[in-house]
Amino acid sequence: MQVVHSLDALRAALKPYDRPAFVPTMGNLHDGHLALLAMAKEHGDVRVASIFVNRLQFGPNEDFDAYPRTFERDCALLEAAGCDVLFAPREADLYPQAQTFLIHPPTGLADVLEGAFRPGFFVGVSTVVMKLFQCVFSGTKTQAHAFFGEKDFQQQLIIRHLVTQFALPVTIVTSPTIRESDGLAMSSRNSYLSEAERAEAPRLQACLQAMLAAVKAGQQSLEAIEGTAMATLRAHQWQPDYMVIRRREDLGMPTDRDRALVVLGAAKLGRTRLIDNLSFDR
Ligand code: AMP
Repeated sequence: MQVVHSLDALRAALKPYDRPAFVPTMGNLHDGHLALLAMAKEHGDVRVASIFVNRLQFGPNEDFDAYPRTFERDCALLEAAGCDVLFAPREADLYPQAQTFLIHPPTGLADVLEGAFRPGFFVGVSTVVMKLFQCVFSGTKTQAHAFFGEKDFQQQLIIRHLVTQFALPVTIVTSPTIRESDGLAMSSRNSYLSEAERAEAPRLQACLQAMLAAVKAGQQSLEAIEGTAMATLRAHQWQPDYMVIRRREDLGMPTDRDRALVVLGAAKLGRTRLIDNLSFDR
């Protein structure tokens, strides 16, 4: 595996290839990331991963400084998983001047849920993804692929719109959420959890399962289902931001006719904020 930091070195490494299969990450890799890389193996002619903790998408009181950085271990995992090129830009490589051109995603999609609780988050995500795509795909001669996790459901939806609206030569492929054996969605932030919190953490996913089951059982009031989930989490010392049932296509409020749905949740356990979601058809 070639490890490159600068844009020039990345472009030189990718010059012999036509169709990179690209997995962007912020590092501290786990099996969720490696599942994306495994999917990438089936596409394109060179596997590219990136590791970049993107300051732009962190709010002033969020965990940019504390975010776990485990570069040596990540390199070994990527190498073993068959990654060909690792792009690990330093901040000055990606942002040589203050990034004042920004991508503002559509409000209906990006100002709700994660966007409502993390103002500016999707501006930061969209801007860095656009930039990483410019770096990785600039020499691409035909349609290429980039891989995102369903774990960040709203993020992959916004990136699909970004790619369509800016006519980028990239197909977005989404991979199912990889979980621990007790159901907790794998996340780099799980390492913040104390032992007691780690034991409690699967409840977020269990509440989403219960919401899904209630919808499938025909319970009429979605608001009541959402309220029960919020109350259950609060009763176990969580601070939930939202537990909602939405239309899968655009995160709108489902009507009776909508069949393709997703339940999404975000909640703080101690100081750790966890998110999760489940897609289903009713
Ligand atoms: P991150 O490093 O958290 O920015 O995540 C990089 C990519 O991995 C994103 O597309 C995430 O949605 C995806 N990802 C993170 N956790 C998981 C998981 N448990 N299962 C599948 N994909 C994941």
